[in-house]
Amino acid sequence: MANSRFPAAADRGVLQKCLSNSASSPFGRLKRSASSKEEASVPGRVRVAVRLRPRNAEELKADLDFADCVELEPELHRLKLRKNNWDYETFQFDEVLTEHASQKRVYEVVGKPVVESVLQGYNGTIMAYGQTGTGKTYTLGRLDEEDDSNRGIMIRAVEDLLSGISLKDDCVTVSYLQLYMETVQDLLAPEKENIPIVDDPKMRDVLIPGASVVEIRDHKSFSELLKSGEANRAVANTKLNAESSRSHAILVINVRRLVSEAQEKSSPSDQGFLVPTIRRSKLVIVDLAGSERIDKSGVGGSSLDEAKSINLSLTALGKCINAIAEGNSHVPIRDSKLTRLLRDSFGGTARTSLVITIGPSPLHRGETSSTIMFGQRAMKVENMVRLKEEFDYKSLCRRLEREIDKLLVENERHTKAMIGAEDLQRTYEEMAANQNVKHQKELKELSSRLHAVNVDREKLQLQLRDSQIEVQLEKELGEEINRRLELEAENKDLNDKVLQLQNEVNEMQRELEQMRSGYQCKADKSHPVQKMTQNSNGQNRSKSTIVKLFEQVGLQNLLALLKSPDEDVQLQALRVIANLAADEAHQVKIMEGGGLSLLLDILRKPKNDSVCGIVAGAIANLAMRELNQVRLVEEGVIELLVIIAHKAQDPQTLRMVAGALANLCGNGEIQEKLRSEGGIKVLLKMGESQYLDVQAQVARALANIAKCESKRALQEYDARSLLIEEEALPWIVEKAKDCAEVVHRHIEMALVHLAQNECNAEVLVNSGAFTELVRISHECMKEDVRSLAYRVVCASPVLQAEFLRFSSTSPGE
Ligand code: ADP
Ligand code: MG
Repeated sequence: MANSRFPAAADRGVLQKCLSNSASSPFGRLKRSASSKEEASVPGRVRVAVRLRPRNAEELKADLDFADCVELEPELHRLKLRKNNWDYETFQFDEVLTEHASQKRVYEVVGKPVVESVLQGYNGTIMAYGQTGTGKTYTLGRLDEEDDSNRGIMIRAVEDLLSGISLKDDCVTVSYLQLYMETVQDLLAPEKENIPIVDDPKMRDVLIPGASVVEIRDHKSFSELLKSGEANRAVANTKLNAESSRSHAILVINVRRLVSEAQEKSSPSDQGFLVPTIRRSKLVIVDLAGSERIDKSGVGGSSLDEAKSINLSLTALGKCINAIAEGNSHVPIRDSKLTRLLRDSFGGTARTSLVITIGPSPLHRGETSSTIMFGQRAMKVENMVRLKEEFDYKSLCRRLEREIDKLLVENERHTKAMIGAEDLQRTYEEMAANQNVKHQKELKELSSRLHAVNVDREKLQLQLRDSQIEVQLEKELGEEINRRLELEAENKDLNDKVLQLQNEVNEMQRELEQMRSGYQCKADKSHPVQKMTQNSNGQNRSKSTIVKLFEQVGLQNLLALLKSPDEDVQLQALRVIANLAADEAHQVKIMEGGGLSLLLDILRKPKNDSVCGIVAGAIANLAMRELNQVRLVEEGVIELLVIIAHKAQDPQTLRMVAGALANLCGNGEIQEKLRSEGGIKVLLKMGESQYLDVQAQVARALANIAKCESKRALQEYDARSLLIEEEALPWIVEKAKDCAEVVHRHIEMALVHLAQNECNAEVLVNSGAFTELVRISHECMKEDVRSLAYRVVCASPVLQAEFLRFSSTSPGE
């Protein structure tokens, strides 16, 4: 005996779990539904409740004891069927509902679990089986508008379905059919009298495509529909001369729910689209025809065939349930329309609740028993409830079609726009290409022009550089010309001045010559050049002019003129310098200003005699100053003077050379150098000159040497005189005997000084100089010279001895 409780809480838990699992993955669901039915199915036994109708008035009146027949033990879900007074049989049901069970409770235990299951997407069946008048219609289809509590399962179920769905997304439709003598009638459209049943092998179910389908949106409209269905049933039964108890009323409620929208992707990278998932479940509520035998129901006028036909469906149902309950491999579903219509309810995928109704009258004990037996067999039927979930490809399709239409319109628009754009682009490209070609051409031209410009520019730059150089050169040339002009002007100025000077000098010379012509040979210690600047008013005037010139022109300018290529200019400048050199202050400036080297340069390459003479005169003047003498010798003056003296013929030049040498001879430190460089020799050569001026200068030179030596002799100088060594004595003696005063005075001095050195005494005696010396000591006009000569002779033993010998041999002395 089956022993489980009717609400099947455990099974519902399994169902929930299965539902939540299946909802978690649309792909999983797809796979499952496509591959394995068993995977998604859970066992679900047909639940069976037994309901006892309360006694009606007739039964109350008869007051027969129901307990003699059946005893209910609702707490134990048991029913005892009495066989006889001492024996009974106990039957276990999922629910035992007494005559006091309210409609609500009946719905709660029989209808609600199935309704909930339908809302979750499972097919469901609620069916009432029992003898006519036991309350099947009361239990299922009762419509009590006055008292809601009396309402049956149909109206309650629809009420719960409507409140469990979303009216926006979901949909509840109803078909109401009657099956009578294997004919399906549409209770919502009575004109449809024989609606075919079509197998749906895919769903293992049947379809009634000809039946009216009415969408229900509220329970009120449903109750109206149910009412009209009942009315149509009555009309139909009258028309067919049938009783409602002999027909099966079948309410088919289709519930379509949108569960979720799953993302459908063809690849991981695909953005995909949302596919609606829907659950299509079906609740079939069947108010079966009375289960009693026909003969017993007392229906009249029906033939046996008719009766067979009337009962065919119910008999077939019993057979199928028996076959399933017994586990037969063959279930004769196709034997009747009812079994075809209830294919999913018994042995299918629906959750099925069966309520068997029994009456309280013991008179119908046999019917009650067979009903109980039917219920017991039904309890053995195990269904495999399965979720009716699917992707709503149709709606997706519709949506996609709409999308496609939209896209097509858009595409058309785009294509048009693109064609336009392509035309535009072509035009633009052509334009661009043309433009490009043009630009290339222009660019080429431009670059060749640029090249030409660059070449021109380079040329211009070269020209510019040349012209800049030219300008610079011109500028420099201009500056040079200006400088030259300035110099020329300066030069001219100087020339004028020098010429003027020259004139003055010439005049001076003339005067000098005039003076010289009447010259008496008187000893003159002063330098010839110096002398010529001192001798007359004219000369003084000339000197002052030169000094003025010097001050105005400046020494450097004058010295610069010494280098003038113009010989005249050089000559005049030389004359000025020579004159200036007579003055000691000017001497210093000339020496410091580099005048000496300039003069010597000229002397090294003399252009003519007169130049030599003037340079020599200048040197003579510079040599007067003792401080200049060593420097002059160091610069090679002696050598140069010796060379000039050898070459010169001009008396003036000779006189100046001799004068210069004479001045140097006065310096004891350079006498040896004078001798070694041939100075004394050249002096003696010049002494041969016929010019007295020259002779006088030579004599002065020799006297200066002798004077220096005599000073040294006083400091124990024990060497013979250079003059003796250089054989000057014969010339001295010769000139001492007979010569002009201008020469003689220097000769006298020379002899006197020579005599002061005892080393010279013997040579003086032997050379005849002694005689001249004695004569000087007696006859010299100059008192100081005469007495000095006398003292010298007396002081020298050799001379003294000779003097005594001379006195004794010379009578009258
Ligand atoms: P059936 O459809 O099985 O032939 P009905 O539903 O027509 O039986 O019921 C027969 C009669 O019994 C009706 O008048 C009905 O009102 C009444 N009836 C049935 N069941 C009950 C019940 N549980 N309580 C009160 N009256 C009932
Ligand atoms: Mg009925």
